[in-house]
Amino acid sequence: MKKQDIASIKQLLSTKKKIVIVPHKNPDGDAIGSTLGLYHYLIKSGHKVNVLVPNDYPSFLKWIPGNETILKYDYQSGVCDALIKDADIIFTLDFNAFHRTGDMESVLTESNGLKIMIDHHQAPDDYATYMYSDVSMSSTCEMVYHFIDMLGNADAVDSNIATCLYVGIMTDTGSFRFPSTTSTTHNIVAKLIEKGANNSDIHNNVYDTNSYERLQLLGCALSNLKVIPELRTAYITLSQNELQKYNYKKGDTEGVVNYGLSLDGIVLAAIFIEDRNEGIIKISLRSKGSFSVNEMSRAHFGGGGHTNAAGGKSYLSLEKTVEKFISILPTYNKALNNE
Ligand code: 5GP
Ligand code: MN
Repeated sequence: MKKQDIASIKQLLSTKKKIVIVPHKNPDGDAIGSTLGLYHYLIKSGHKVNVLVPNDYPSFLKWIPGNETILKYDYQSGVCDALIKDADIIFTLDFNAFHRTGDMESVLTESNGLKIMIDHHQAPDDYATYMYSDVSMSSTCEMVYHFIDMLGNADAVDSNIATCLYVGIMTDTGSFRFPSTTSTTHNIVAKLIEKGANNSDIHNNVYDTNSYERLQLLGCALSNLKVIPELRTAYITLSQNELQKYNYKKGDTEGVVNYGLSLDGIVLAAIFIEDRNEGIIKISLRSKGSFSVNEMSRAHFGGGGHTNAAGGKSYLSLEKTVEKFISILPTYNKALNNE
């Protein structure tokens, strides 16, 4: 972020402001961790702050400090609309295009509050007055730490802020194993532990609170796994019937796509999940090396994300979506086999 912008933001935050913080729809660990981490920091600095999420999130994130203060747009749109209209500053975290907030898109587009973006996804839209956008960052949580540090307030990071930020760095780096994890990431994580983030408890809370049914659903997903070795691709499908059979709850399929990528020699992994309520197939794509699933999703599945992790959707049936995926793969033959 430019020094000039930091100076302006510092000036802006030197008096009490009404602030709203918004993450993307279907918020994940990085979205909830970064918004609540920033929330605690701004509250501590004397501002009036609300975190507004477009919709619900998995229960394995509901222990994070400040969770009980979050307002959900799909339940409380009236209250949220009023807060957005009244806000002096709107922080948008872990996304970079208003359509990623689902039903909040129009109220955010029409709002007059000054926008500050903190995000690490590719191809940001141009809506923010101050844009802290860096695709090389492991997570928005890592960026929130840098942001607080750039404001000269790293000392303000306490155990609540540290705990929130640790969650998103851990989840977005696949527990510190993805290539986006740098020595700087580890340095920050070390500081967060010093400030009171309990790394072992946080890992337990997020990853070791499975229900029996969630593991059964994972078993079903793994038995549906298909491999196309000549195109170094693996994919998984989950139909609505299968989800219902195992009493699917939000977050139950998080991380399942990575099992495809764990196969020796596989460069591209996908999961196709039927969502009859929304009338879509939700697609998650993951890759290794320089193969860009962001580009693949933008070109074919109306989504995007990062080089190695992207989301998208399809309005075709589950079967037709998989057919489409298989039919486009040969156009990527060279890139897949060059990895
Ligand atoms: P997931 O597959 O876990 O839903 O998403 C993988 C990554 O891509 C996440 O960082 C997520 O925020 C991002 N992502 C998911 N869907 C979309 C989308 O429709 N557009 C963009 N730009 N990013 C997405
Ligand atoms: Mn993120």
